[in-house]
Amino acid sequence: MSDEGPASITQEQLDDLGRTFHRGDVVACPLCHAKLECHEDPYIPRISVPVRFICPVHGLLGDSNPPDLRSAWPDEQVRRMFADHLARGEARCPEDQATVGVIYMSNESGAYLRVACPSCGRVREGPWETPA
Ligand SMILES: [Zn+2]
Ligand SMILES: [Zn+2]
Repeated sequence: MSDEGPASITQEQLDDLGRTFHRGDVVACPLCHAKLECHEDPYIPRISVPVRFICPVHGLLGDSNPPDLRSAWPDEQVRRMFADHLARGEARCPEDQATVGVIYMSNESGAYLRVACPSCGRVREGPWETPA
């Protein structure tokens, strides 16, 4: 569980803040409703991205600790996210509405697609066949 800080909120609250952040919504302090400073803390062995929250009033609140599932979405959901990415330059995880990271590369030898969710750690990567 989380360390006790001076202004203590629960790990569950921190994880809620993390999901809010990854949806692209404004993140407010659960204690005073001030807008929080958010620092993403990506590191290589993880797919999901923990976030550190700092309140202008309460100081450091702590870090979210998102799950890092590393499983893939069903193909149908991947196709929909990829289509959204192409249409709008943005796609969201169907499980938690977080904005997913999309990397798409295509050349003569084929196409590669990687979709990764910073909120749940689901990831799909590898060759990609665009349906004709
Ligand atoms: Zn606060
Ligand atoms: Zn997700």
